[in-house]
Amino acid sequence: MRRRIYIELVMVAGTAIFATLLLATVVYYKVFERQVFEDLKICAKLLAGMGWDGANETEDGADFEMWAGQELRITLIGQNGTVFYDTAAKGEFLENHGSRKEVMEALEKGESKVVRDSPTFHKNTFYFALRLDENTVLRTAREADSILGIFTGVLPVAFFLAMLLFALCMLLSHVLTRRLIAPVERLAKEGGLAEEVDTYRELQPLLQTIRRQHGDILKSARMRQDFTANVSHELKTPLACIQGYAELIENGMAKKEDAARFAGEIRSSSIRLLALINDILRLSELDEQKGNLECEPVELSELARTCVEMLSLNAKKQGVSLMFSGGACVIEANRGMLEELLYNLVDNAVRYNQSGGQVFVGVTESGEQVCLAVKDTGIGIGKEHQERIFERFYRVDKSRSRATGGTGLGLAIVKHIADCHGARIELESEVGNGTKIQIYFSKKICK
Ligand code: ADP
Repeated sequence: MRRRIYIELVMVAGTAIFATLLLATVVYYKVFERQVFEDLKICAKLLAGMGWDGANETEDGADFEMWAGQELRITLIGQNGTVFYDTAAKGEFLENHGSRKEVMEALEKGESKVVRDSPTFHKNTFYFALRLDENTVLRTAREADSILGIFTGVLPVAFFLAMLLFALCMLLSHVLTRRLIAPVERLAKEGGLAEEVDTYRELQPLLQTIRRQHGDILKSARMRQDFTANVSHELKTPLACIQGYAELIENGMAKKEDAARFAGEIRSSSIRLLALINDILRLSELDEQKGNLECEPVELSELARTCVEMLSLNAKKQGVSLMFSGGACVIEANRGMLEELLYNLVDNAVRYNQSGGQVFVGVTESGEQVCLAVKDTGIGIGKEHQERIFERFYRVDKSRSRATGGTGLGLAIVKHIADCHGARIELESEVGNGTKIQIYFSKKICK
């Protein structure tokens, strides 16, 4: 970056110097040209004022050619373009000048200025023609540098100055590049994390993004750490239980009548282990799937009704009645994930209920949204826990959760699935009165 900025600055400086040189030459030439014409005009007017008629001698007897000098050429052109007199002709016959541009223009407008290429290299001839009367034109002319001549004339000095300027620009570019880059380099060194970095305003959004991403990375690393610690802890308990009972049986310490009970404990701990492993695997699968959701049209009411039927026997055993209401609502979603979400919500509504309690599952449609509601008349959730129950392994009542086969991951899976579908979760709950969880899906989740 530094090299690139430096090269570009130097290139800009070089172009500017070259352009200035060219422009200065053009401007100088224009001024010079004007000056030459001014001089020629003054001479012509002077001669006209003196009433000069082509005589070779001035009034005081001086030789006119001497007076005019080598550089100034004076021509007097008469009727139909006949040359009466020309200081450069020296007695030679000169061709008719009637068709010369300056002569024609002067006859027409009173005066004229014309520049023509000179036989001399890099020189031009400047002509000024002045009408004296209807038929006579007085023309003054001189040879002077052309624009190319001027340019080549000043070239050595200009080149030297340009090189000097260029070297100065290179030095300045170097200093400027360093100053420009310094804040960016400081930023790169600190990784954009230091709060007080004196840098460009335009870089602030980038800094904010870096800080936010860094925060997210830290948060997710911490969450992963917590999750691993929680997983180990959760797995340890049933495993320790299995190990303990197995040891008792192995050492022959279990009485015959206890053996069946111990085997039962081992079995239920294994079931718990399996449920835990299943949920952990499921969560990591969902983590991987995030972002590439496979969708199909799903009839949500049909899924909900099937789930209610599937869990109704279980609910009946616990004295809980399960009800479903709702009409056909089709959404574009992942069928397997929705089944899982439904199962976890309805299962919780049954498990955290009381005998004689009820569970209502409803699907309603409003505009572009479809709402799935699972409402129970169970034990409810205290305000202080409501924020946290969607966290992994968070349980309000640990023993009840375990006793009913919970893993503490059900609602985390629900939240994950809802997030994948861009759905919004609403929770209303009151201790002793029951819980209502509503999930709002857009009909078209997959584009
Ligand atoms: P678990 O496997 O322990 O049920 P979840 O993630 O499904 O884990 O739920 C987290 C916690 O939220 C539960 O332990 C329970 O305390 C509380 N909870 C979930 N659903 C309900 C409900 N319908 N009524 C009361 N409490 C609930």
